[in-house]
Order: sequence, then C-alpha cells, then structure tokens
Amino acid sequence: MFIDRARLKVTGGAGGNGCCSFRREKYVPLGGPEGGDGGDGGAVLLEASPRLGSLLDIRYHGHWKGKRGAHGRGKAQHGKTSGPMVVPVPCGTVVRALDSEEILADLKAPGQRFLAGAGGKGGKGNARFATAANRAPHFAELGEPGEEREFRLELKLIADVGLVGLPNAGKSTLLAHVSAARPKIADYPFTTLSPNLGVVPLSGYRTFTMADIPGIIEGAAQGKGLGHDFLRHIERTRVLLFLIDLGDEDPVQTWRTLESELAQHTDAFAKRRRLFVFNKADVTENRARFDEVAKEFKGPRLISAATGEGLDALLENLWTLVEQARTELDVEDAPEPEREYTFEAPYDLRQTDAGFSIEGKRVLRAVRMTDFENPEAVRHLQYILKHMGVFKALKRMGAKAGQSIWVGGVEMEYQPD
Ligand code: GDP
Ligand code: MG
Repeated sequence: MFIDRARLKVTGGAGGNGCCSFRREKYVPLGGPEGGDGGDGGAVLLEASPRLGSLLDIRYHGHWKGKRGAHGRGKAQHGKTSGPMVVPVPCGTVVRALDSEEILADLKAPGQRFLAGAGGKGGKGNARFATAANRAPHFAELGEPGEEREFRLELKLIADVGLVGLPNAGKSTLLAHVSAARPKIADYPFTTLSPNLGVVPLSGYRTFTMADIPGIIEGAAQGKGLGHDFLRHIERTRVLLFLIDLGDEDPVQTWRTLESELAQHTDAFAKRRRLFVFNKADVTENRARFDEVAKEFKGPRLISAATGEGLDALLENLWTLVEQARTELDVEDAPEPEREYTFEAPYDLRQTDAGFSIEGKRVLRAVRMTDFENPEAVRHLQYILKHMGVFKALKRMGAKAGQSIWVGGVEMEYQPD
C-alpha cells in the first residue's frame, strides 16, 4: 500500500528534574545545597531518508516522543542530556502544521532534517538557587516539558522524469523495462493505483529517476478520477514524458487532454521540458501511423516498451533533457525556516470572569517548572514573576488580594506585598 499523507504528533523529551539535596559530612553540621541539574530532554527530528518510499510507517506509528533528560542527583551530579529521536521520512516529504497550509519544511535531500519537537530544558538543582540571603534553598526546578506539536505530512515524489499518459499507454511497462522497479502491469485502465519510482541506469554511472504516475483520465483535475490525487507527485518532476499509444484513435486529442489536465492542476507544469513518445511500435498496424501522427508533434520518438525497441535512444534523449533541467534552479523551493524553541515571548495579561489569566511562554515555562508541593519552590516562582513585572502589571489592572490568577491551567492567588 502506498501512503502519501499522514498525521504526525511529536512530543519532545521532558527535561530531567533538578535535585534538591544537601551535603552531609562528618563534623559539618550544616552542609550546603548540592543538588545537580536535570539534563535537557531530547528533541524529535524528522529526517529525509532515501530508503523509505511512503509515509506508511508514520501511519502506523503516529506519535513520536523524545527521550527524557536524566534527573539531577546529589553531590552536584547533573543528569545526562538526551540525544534526539530521529524519525525517518521519505525524501519529498512536505511538513505542514495540522491546521495550516503554510509549509514548515520540505525535506527533499537525503539527510535533510527538521526540528519537529524541541526537548525541554533540564530543571536547576537547588545548588543553583543559593544566595547570600538564602543559603539553604529547599527546592529545585522540575524539568521543562518537551514541545508538543502536530503536523500534516504529505509525500511529493521527486523524479527527474514523470510519465504522463492515459491508462494503458504502457507507462508501467516502460518503467519496468528501463529500471528495477516492478510496477503492476495489466491490460485494463487504472492498473497503477500508486506512483512507482524507478532508478534508470545508463552507461558511465549515470542515473536518473523516473516516476510512473497513475493514468490521468478526463476530469481528473476536478477530482473525478484517481489521477488527480497523484498529479502532485509529478508536480516536481524535471521532465515530462508524454507517452501515447500509437493505436490511440486521436493522438493529438489525447495530448490536448493530458495537457489540459496538467494545466488545471497547476501552472507549474507549463515550464517543464517535454518529450513526446509513441508506444507499441511492435504492433504492425501501428507502424504506418507513426509517420502520419509524428507531423503534429515536436521531435516525437517511437518505441516499444514491450520489446525494448527505441529505448536506448530514448534514454539518452531523456538524459540530455534531465541534465539541462538539473542545472537550472530547483523546482519551486519552499521556505525552510530555522526554528528555535524559546519561551522568550512577553506575557499577555488578561482580565477574565474568574480573575486574571496570564499567557506567554516564559511565564508558562516558569509555572510548568515549579513543584507546587513545595512552598519554597512556589516562593521562588513568585520571585520570578515579580521580576518579570507580572505583579506590577496586575496592580495596574486593578487586581485585588485573593483574586485568582490563571497560568496554563494552574490557579494561583494574588497577594500584593
Ligand atoms: P499503463 O496503464 O500506462 O501503466 O500501461 P501498462 O504498462 O499497464 O500497459 C497496458 C497494456 O499495454 C498491458 O497489457 C501491456 O502489456 C501493454 N503494452 C505496454 N507496452 C506495450 C508495447 O510496447 N507493445 C504492446 N504490444 N503492448 C504493450
Ligand atoms: Mg500503469
């Protein structure tokens, strides 16, 4: 089964918790704080892998979680930071946020990576919070939760040559003949339900890739046929090979049909190099037709995908076109923004029916990393919020003692000092 769309959820690994501990030594009655920091959680990365041909794995395993950072320990031992979890996806995978059309990443080249979910920072151990005023802090930070995001993945095959033709033109037969790909071949329309990609070897270590696209039928661009969903696979091919059955009643009309299907899908095809190839030359009655039909096309070629006639010359011709196209700018490059996971955004304070709510990554992070069971940790949180100016802002907005302040699902009570 060929899967070319999938949903993916990722959760970065949480940071390890900071440790709260004190030195214990003989003859030293009050040892200082020595709790180590937690290690950072591991990120989840997507990586383009040439070994995969579909998004099937993602369909079966739709939620990937990064590794947690190790917790800090006593004697100032820091927890280990976790390495990234690498999720392989096929080359040509386009990544979008679940609810948006914007392209976040376009993983074309093997090894190309996308940071899907950042790991959380490790929590600080109590050793970090010792100050002149508080030499024995009895709290440590919890590890920061990892980033959680959902994506829509879509596979767009990237082939040097895309085969365009009506069902039964012989596309699968041609691909099978010139490459090691084994597409299904049958004597009825729609034999190819999924695109097949083959590597075509030529002499002198030259290779190019060829994609067999399911037959386009009239109206496919309006979503009527099977062809439409797969048209986007040929969107990114460098050269279009129009394969037409010589036994076709009206080859010129067939060509027009194919062109209009392509044009309705996207105008990206207009810029592609084209080669017109007539198939089934081995059928005796077809031979005479070629001379008659060829006049209507520019530089047409005659082949038999079944017997292999004309294929060597065809491949050399394709190679020339592919090479020319390869030197040109890459096909419609999508932006690949660098992205950082930070909580730097300023907070947003809002009055609600229930009191006040604070939104903002830094505030949220401070709250998430607080162990509310521990009064000292809570006091530390207040200290952070105060320094961020949250209390001043609350005061300005007329907050009264005892009113609720909500941050990321946590309710706190406002107590002006
Ligand atoms: P596709 O739908 O374009 O992929 O077409 P297929 O490759 O499945 O071929 C459709 C039918 O045409 C099959 O029965 C093939 O055996 C036959 N066919 C393909 N190429 C040739 C050819 O060069 N000569 C002849 N005689 N038959 C061919
Ligand atoms: Mg086929």
